[in-house]
Formats: sequence, C-alpha cells, structure tokens
Amino acid sequence: MTASGRRGTARLFLGSATLSLIPVLVLGGFLAASYRTEARHRGIAEGRAEAQLIAQTSIQPFLGTGPIASSVKAHAGDLAHLSTQDQSGALRLRLRDLSGSVVFSSDRSGFSERPEDEALDAARGETVALLTHVNVDTNDTGRAGPAAVEVYLPLFPPGSSRAVGVLEVYLPYAPIRADIARSLRGLLVDLVLGLGVLYVVLFAISWSVSRGLRRQVTRNAYLAGHDALTGLPNRSTFMQQAAESIARAVEEHRSVVIAIVDLDRFNEINDSLGHDNGDTVLEQLARHVERGLDGSSTVARIGGDEFGLILEDVSDVDSALAGVRESLNVELEISGVRVTMEASVGYVIAPGDGDDVKTLVQRADVAVHVAKRQHVGVVHYDPEHDHYDPANLALIAELRRAIGANELVLNYQPKARIAGGTFESVEALVRWQHPERGLLPPDRFLPLAEQTDLIEDLTDWVLARALTDLRQLHVAAPIGMAVNVSARSLSRPDFPDRVLRAIDEAGVDPTRLTIEITETALMSDPTRAAIALSQLDAFGVKISLDDFGTGHTSLGYLSSLPIDELKIDKSFVFDMLIDRSHGAIVRSVIDLGHNLGLRVVAEGIETAEILRALGDLGCDVAQGYYLARPMPVGDLPRFFATTPLVQA
Ligand code: C2E
Ligand code: CA
Ligand code: CA
Repeated sequence: MTASGRRGTARLFLGSATLSLIPVLVLGGFLAASYRTEARHRGIAEGRAEAQLIAQTSIQPFLGTGPIASSVKAHAGDLAHLSTQDQSGALRLRLRDLSGSVVFSSDRSGFSERPEDEALDAARGETVALLTHVNVDTNDTGRAGPAAVEVYLPLFPPGSSRAVGVLEVYLPYAPIRADIARSLRGLLVDLVLGLGVLYVVLFAISWSVSRGLRRQVTRNAYLAGHDALTGLPNRSTFMQQAAESIARAVEEHRSVVIAIVDLDRFNEINDSLGHDNGDTVLEQLARHVERGLDGSSTVARIGGDEFGLILEDVSDVDSALAGVRESLNVELEISGVRVTMEASVGYVIAPGDGDDVKTLVQRADVAVHVAKRQHVGVVHYDPEHDHYDPANLALIAELRRAIGANELVLNYQPKARIAGGTFESVEALVRWQHPERGLLPPDRFLPLAEQTDLIEDLTDWVLARALTDLRQLHVAAPIGMAVNVSARSLSRPDFPDRVLRAIDEAGVDPTRLTIEITETALMSDPTRAAIALSQLDAFGVKISLDDFGTGHTSLGYLSSLPIDELKIDKSFVFDMLIDRSHGAIVRSVIDLGHNLGLRVVAEGIETAEILRALGDLGCDVAQGYYLARPMPVGDLPRFFATTPLVQA
C-alpha cells in the first residue's frame, strides 16, 4: 500500500470510529439520565418507607387522640432519645401540629419558622417526600447541609384514622444512594457493556460501509481514467501522464518521446467483421503493444484505433518504434478469419519538438497522418508536415462530405468585352455553404483540398455544375463559361479526359468552356501541362492563363502553349493608376498578349477610371466588382437582360 493509501485508510478508520461514537454517546447520555431519575425515585421511595417505619415504631406509640402538643409534653422523656441521630437514623426529626407549627424538634430548630406547605399537605393526610439538602430553605446558616430525603408524614394515633400531627424527617441520602447504587450496579455494568458492544458493532458496520464506498470511489476513478475495453489508460490519463513526463524530462535535461500508433485499415475490419470482432482485435493488439515495450514506457488507448506511447530513456527512437510497429504486425484469427494488422507511427521528441503536451500530441498526430499517407511506417514530426494538421484534416473530412451533400455552391462573375461593352462570359467561383461556419470563401478550403486528392472531386464537381448551369442558362446570346483548375488537377494524366467527359455529360459546345490556369500552376509541371493543354485545345476548349504577371513563364514556353487568353492579375489592376510600375506591367501584358495573338483580360476592376484606362490601353475583356460581383446562377438571366452594356 502506498503512503497516501495508508493515510487514507487511517483517516477512514478515524472517521468510522468517530461516527459510530456519536449514537453510542447519545444513547449513553439518555440511559445515564434515566438511571439518575430511577435512582432518585428509588431514593425517595426508600426514604418514605424509612420515615414510615420511624413513625410507626418511634412516634405512634406515644400519640394520643388529643392535640399532638400535649402528647409531646406527656412523653417528653420518651421522645428525648430521638434527639440523637444514632437512635432514629435521621439527620433531623420534627413533629408539627395540624397547623404546621413545630412542637418537637430533634435539633431544636424550626420553632420560629413559618409552617411549610409540605407540612400542611401532610396535615391533610398526604405523604410528601423529596430529595433535598438539610437547611436548603432556611438560609440562616447560609450553607446547605448534607443531601437528604425530606419526608412529611401525617401522624395517626394507634387505632385512629384522624391525623393529629405531622412527622417531618430528614434522612441522610448518602447511605440510601449507596444502597441503590449497589442494587443498580449490575444494571450499570450491563449498560456499559451493552454500549461497548453497540459501539463495536456500529464501528464495524460503518468501517465496512465506508471501506466499500472508498473502494467504489477508487474504482470509479480508475474507470474514469482507463479504457473499459483494453484496461489501458485513456486519453485524459495519457495527456496527464505525458505532461508529467515532459515536465520531468525538462527538469532533468533529457528528452522523452511521445508517439501515436494508428492502426491501418481498422475501420475496414470493424465494418467487415463487426464491432464485437473489432473490439477483440483492439484488445489483443493492446496486449501486443504492451509486450513490444519495456517497463519504463506507458501505453494508452487515446482514440478508437489509436494508441499513445510515452517512451522515457530510449537511445534509438526509430528502432524502438519500429519494434512496436513490428509487434503489431501480427496475424490474428478473428471468428475464423485471419487478419493481418499494420500500423503507422508518428512521434515527437520533447522538449525539442515543443514543450506543451497539447501541441506535442497534436504534432505526433500530424506525423502519424503523414506516416499513413506516405505508407512509411514511422515518422518523426517535421514542421513541414503542418498542412496535415488534424484541424485541417477534420475540415478536409467535412469537405469530402460537403461535396457529396451539395454544400458547395458556384457564383458566377460576368466578364465584358470592353469595346462594345457586351457581357460575353462568366467565371465560375466556388464557395462552401458550411452548415456551422456560414459561407466560406475558396481560400479557406481550397488550399487544403489542393493538398489531397479531394481537389479532384472538387474540380469534377465544379466542372459538372458549371457546365450544367451553362446549358440550362437562358440568356439571349450564348455566353462562355470559365472554370478555374488547380495545378494538382492539371498534372493528372486523366485531366483532359475528365474535362471532356464533363462537357459530354452536360452536352455543351466545348468551345464555350474556358479553363483558367494560374501561371504558377502551369509552371509546377510544365511538360505535363503542355500535353494536357494541347489535348484540350484539340477539342476546342479555351485556355486562359490566370493571375498573369505573378509567375515567371518564359516567353518561349508561353508561345509554345495553345493559350487563348492572358488574365492580368488583379493586384496590378487595382492600383494601376497610382502605382506607375503596376501601370507599366498592365500595359506590357496587354502588348505582350496582343503580340502573341491572345485576348487580354483585366480582372479586379473596381472603378470607372480603371475601366476607361484599360479601354484606352486596348485591353479586350474586363471583369471586376465595378461591372458585376459574382452572383448565383439564378441572378444571371436578369443581369444579362437588364445590363447589356457597360459604360466604358
Ligand atoms: P481568381 O481565379 O483570380 O478569381 C477572381 C477572384 O477575384 C474571385 O475571388 C473574385 O470574386 C475576385 N474579384 C473579382 N472582381 C474583383 C474586384 O473587382 N475586386 C476584388 N477585390 N476582387 C474581385 P474568389 O471568388 O474569392 O476566388 C478566389 C480564388 O479562388 C480565385 O481567384 C481562384 O484562384 C480560386 N477559385 C475560385 N473558385 C475556384 C474553383 O472552382 N476551382 C479552383 N481550382 N479555384 C477556384
Ligand atoms: Ca480565375
Ligand atoms: Ca485571377
């Protein structure tokens, strides 16, 4: 048992002992009170009986039927011996007449006192007995005498039932009390013993109940910190232990490894073999991970198919983790089916890779995702991996769903010919109508999508939607549709096929479609891009070079491509009238484009002045908020009907 465990037990013991003492003390107090009352009652009764005896033996024989005063006078000699206590056993003995006046007193006291109520009651035939102290009501001595039973008895002459006087007697209480105590002693012993037994029983009950409760509390705490299936520490315990390990490592100037082991294809196993079998797999693998580690390491189950490891004192991290991975690479027989498991491992070394546990675990998570994607087994976190950040990965997962759930929407921004001012085409711009975050602009999710295969789905979706919208759009003159395509989509060998399939499925004329490709996208794989573009060109699809001026396309390469259009980057257009060099770039691009036989488009036109300046420079097509903002497809017919001309 640990020191804190021992302390806890001692506290529990003391608690139980004190708690069970309370009812015993209450009951003891109550019994003691009734014992005292009982003793008083018995004392009074005994005093009464004794007084009766004195009356019968020492007084009554001398009483005549006349007033008691005369009987006293007549038998003064006989009564005299009552004056000594030894004779009567009384502390004081008085005789009173029916009016309560003292006619005889063993100690010669009371002759001048006023008659007492008790004496008058006794004169009427009642016996009164009470516990008191001698002289308690006559303050002449200022001090009460010894404890006594005070009894007032009516006195009857022999053979008569008419009282002639009253006997007032004070009997010493001490011997009576001793007598009673003797007779009650047995009872007292029984009581004390009973209380003792009661205490022991209560203590035993309370001790066992509180120990049971404590066990339950300990068990609950254990369950809260552990995974019910594998019995391993759970995520919150893992985080806590990792934080402690990191703090210790920092203090001791050494490092600690935090690793995450993620099972590959576990969901498939779960889905195909059922959840019960999935659980069995996890249980067995948990034991394998444990076996693959030395005693100083910690294993926790931190997610559905994720284990967290804390490795202290490892010299060769990679081989240690490869060992763990190896230990998981086992063939399990689950309900007669043989399954081979594999796992990916990502890790961080603290404090080198960060010193706070949340960041470290998040980075290990990033590394494990990289390991999974690249099928490389064990990966040490690198800041380069950060675009695999779990938060972003979550967004990617959502985006995957969003594409299926039609949460993406396209807005269309019209482009106009500057000479003549007719709107001749639109550019499709994607947005994500996110259920919680609202309408997300493309730069919030496109960069993420571009890091994964998801961009293919997105490009397919945009192409299909844009072309379908184009076919269904009823405007006076047939207009063109521009769709943006990312570098990653462009570099896929099947990209031209996908575009052509989309055109086919929508049933539109391929010459109405323009593919916008950024200059940088083009340069990321120039050879592949050149092939793709010529294939598309062969079918009449137009190509526009977007954000032109921001990249470094060589003129030779540019002239070799089947391009139809150059789109001057809006960053140059915005301030072309203020920034002379931007103005010069705009002018040069227009000239360059025309010299290569291309149309030149200026985007980002926000003012009439810029539109006019571009017209003066001979720019062919204009696009920008000044002319039209991107709008839902439903707004296009009205827009085209009511805004046929631009005031250049
Ligand atoms: P981009 O291809 O250069 O698209 C033009 C962007 O400039 C659009 O932003 C448009 O709304 C904005 N814009 C147009 N006129 C003006 C103006 O006068 N002033 C200002 N300040 N902005 C103007 P948006 O819609 O946010 O799109 C941003 C970028 O996202 C696009 O730049 C494009 O590279 C990318 N993108 C949009 N949709 C798609 C898509 O479906 N697929 C791919 N691969 N990329 C897309
Ligand atoms: Ca564009
Ligand atoms: Ca652009």
